[in-house]
Amino acid sequence: MVGAGVIGLTAAVVLATAGVRTEVWSAEDPDDTPSARAGAVWTPVPQAPLDASLAWAARSLHEFCGASRVPGSGVRLAEGLTLVEPVSAVRLPPLTRLSPDLRDAAPGDLPPGFGAGLRYRVPVIDMARYVPWLLRRLGEAGGRVRRRQVAGLGEALAAAPVVVNASGLGARELTPDPTVRPVFTQYVVTDNPGLDRVVVDTTDPRRWVSIVPHADRVHLGGVRITGRDDDRPDRELASDVLRRCRDLEPALLDARITRIDTGLLPSRPTMRVEAELRPDGLVVHSYGHAGGGVTVSWGAAHAVAALVTDRA
Ligand SMILES: Cc1cc2nc3c(=O)[nH]c(=O)nc-3n(C[C@H](O)[C@H](O)[C@H](O)COP(=O)(O)OP(=O)(O)OC[C@H]3O[C@@H](n4cnc5c(N)ncnc54)[C@H](O)[C@@H]3O)c2cc1C
Repeated sequence: MVGAGVIGLTAAVVLATAGVRTEVWSAEDPDDTPSARAGAVWTPVPQAPLDASLAWAARSLHEFCGASRVPGSGVRLAEGLTLVEPVSAVRLPPLTRLSPDLRDAAPGDLPPGFGAGLRYRVPVIDMARYVPWLLRRLGEAGGRVRRRQVAGLGEALAAAPVVVNASGLGARELTPDPTVRPVFTQYVVTDNPGLDRVVVDTTDPRRWVSIVPHADRVHLGGVRITGRDDDRPDRELASDVLRRCRDLEPALLDARITRIDTGLLPSRPTMRVEAELRPDGLVVHSYGHAGGGVTVSWGAAHAVAALVTDRA
């Protein structure tokens, strides 16, 4: 496995649990990847290929609901509120309808100035606890992680008959695949003044904002800039997100800003999960999951495992 982000680690857990001898090589420590900085909320977004995206998000939802009952997994089921232009749940695309307990919000649920919203239950994944939990599961199944940067997939194929390419944005050079592009994303992290509910404001289609509370902190996000390759924090955008989130949840006015998290999402016109037979061995690709990698991680992992075991 090349890559120890959420895509590589989850696939490694599935493969090792199925009895496949699995070693993960990663240029970064698993707790220092873009995945480890994710918000993260299970958010069914329509990513191509749509059928796979639907199936993989559904599979992940099942796994995250199970994980929410396991102490120490870092996963919990929270109440969610998405503020929308007036729309009824029955007319929403199928991906959105996957959300458990989806219903129209009552007027009393809405912040002042908003006319419509949807309520649901949603898995919230605290990556600071979830990544170590995945690593423990991998270790228990006999898999291991090594810090190692590879210059090409051939280097990994020299060590293993099957290589999974879960290198995120690194797939641009490693595959190589020029259709992989960075999307800059940024979250303001504050301490938690007592919030529990996830709130997403989608009423400005150009820029959503989201409030994702964990036990000890809150991630305030929504920034996405396609093609930006520079992951330095943007303080002007951070101020705008903070202002909008404080309007939605006034308790945030008292919250202390602890840091600004940024990341470059591995975007691609379609997610790529497929096998490629090369002269030196089999490569199973799994990259291009853009802003929904956590959401599709378990479904993509099982798709990878099927390709590895079918063709190995
Ligand atoms: C701030 C932030 C918030 C997010 N919030 C959400 C959310 O709420 N819900 C959601 O579903 N998704 C969310 N995402 C998106 C999600 O995190 C990504 O889709 C996911 O991180 C992609 O995972 P990945 O494993 O493909 O890539 P990465 O996490 O980037 O991991 C790539 C791995 O490949 C390794 N690698 C690359 N090149 C090489 C090489 N040459 N040799 C060896 N190793 C290499 C890296 O070291 C790393 O281990 C968020 C992302 C960010 C940054």
